[in-house]
Amino acid sequence: MKIRTRYAPSPTGRMHVGNLRSALYEFLIAKHAGGDFMLRIEDTDQERFVEGAVDIIYRTMEKTGLKHDEGPDKDGGYGPYVQSERMKTGIYMKYAKELVEKGEAYYCFCDKERLDTLKTSVVDGKEITVYDKHCLHLSKEEVEANLAAGKPYVIRQNNPTTGTTTFHDELYGDITVDNSELDDMILIKSDGYPTYNFANVIDDHTMNITHVVRGNEYLSSSPKYVRLYEALGWEVPKYIHLPLITDENHKKLSKRSGHASFEDLLEQGFISEAIVNYIALLGWSPEDNREIFSLDELIKEFDYHRINKSPSVFDIQKLRWMNGEYIKAMDFDKFYEEALPYIKEVIKKDLDLKKIANMIKTRIETYCDIKDHIDFFEELPEYDIHMYEHKKMKTDLDSSLKVLEEVLPILEGIDDYSNDNLYKTLLEYVEKNGYKNGFVMWPIRTAVSGKQMTPGGATELMEILGKDESLKRIRKGIELLKNR
Ligand code: GLU
Repeated sequence: MKIRTRYAPSPTGRMHVGNLRSALYEFLIAKHAGGDFMLRIEDTDQERFVEGAVDIIYRTMEKTGLKHDEGPDKDGGYGPYVQSERMKTGIYMKYAKELVEKGEAYYCFCDKERLDTLKTSVVDGKEITVYDKHCLHLSKEEVEANLAAGKPYVIRQNNPTTGTTTFHDELYGDITVDNSELDDMILIKSDGYPTYNFANVIDDHTMNITHVVRGNEYLSSSPKYVRLYEALGWEVPKYIHLPLITDENHKKLSKRSGHASFEDLLEQGFISEAIVNYIALLGWSPEDNREIFSLDELIKEFDYHRINKSPSVFDIQKLRWMNGEYIKAMDFDKFYEEALPYIKEVIKKDLDLKKIANMIKTRIETYCDIKDHIDFFEELPEYDIHMYEHKKMKTDLDSSLKVLEEVLPILEGIDDYSNDNLYKTLLEYVEKNGYKNGFVMWPIRTAVSGKQMTPGGATELMEILGKDESLKRIRKGIELLKNR
């Protein structure tokens, strides 16, 4: 049997890291087995619908390379692929009525006032009313009279109050719950839309989904879903519930952490391939300790039986490291193209931006690091003269002043400001005086950059700055050291 998985996002905003992980795992499970990966838009909760969120979903899928075989934009014979459109076909109502016929569901006409008096309990982080089956006891005639009178209604699942329900999760094994814990959840809302709880079952079955992968916040609802499958005489798909993703403080990763969505991460200068690679490891690991995987390599390696049950910590430092590895390995032309907007944001002068890009490629971890590495090219920052003192280089304020004063005329006397020529020229000075390299280079680098750390050595920086600017900065250094 061909494996079919689905990613079923609700268009409610940015794509949360947890959602992206579900999408990735569904994609990998399908592709690993040569199966089909489908996209279904779950927009039945009209209150949570956010304009533009569907576009975000498409953009994210495209950028991450999670290509779907079927979806709203790619008919595979199981459409429509958008739940609000599916609703118009009458599919949810049809099965809800079938369940009513079978005694597995019932109409409920209780109004808000009455529901407000009922007990509440918290399920999946949401407060729900525990319904007392009041309307289950209405006679057929009463129900029909209410419907004929146009009384607003919902359709609820009719769960038994005794006995147990068992379902199987591929990772958690068999899970058994007391039926008394199962609320008579709403299947069809008063606006005629199905709830997520109902629609996911109808759709996963009618769209022939074999493996359902989702966050473990759905674990507690799964017995109710399983009861629906069984009531309709359908085979239950394989369930794979994924571990919680937490922030560094072991709290559920949330918007507040600032890096909870794919878009947040892109804005923070991470690259898509690294994000996907990192997210793959949030709950899954290969047999060896390998960490860097392209999407194709993940497809090959991804065995879902190796998904972890324990929560995974989203470690932004680890992602930074991984992103840096991706940047290092990136083809220079591609890097240049992607880094250019960040470079241009800082550098307005007419400098050789390609050289700057080349200099920083191995030093940054994210594109947003670029600014800090190169801003001194645009303008010499105010700096503390004690930066001239360096124990290992054996430099102090006096020695630095002396060196700068001595190299100034030499540097004024040459016009070839290529790195090679500058280096050769300064080396002659170093050797003539019997100095160590650093003794000379440290003060020059400090003077031309005003920074403790720079993406290149003194002569590399001067090559980019050019003669005029380099000399100007060295003179400024001399002045600072003199007037101390
Ligand atoms: N629409 C649900 C969500 O975005 C999908 C959950 C599922 O995969 O079944 O959380």
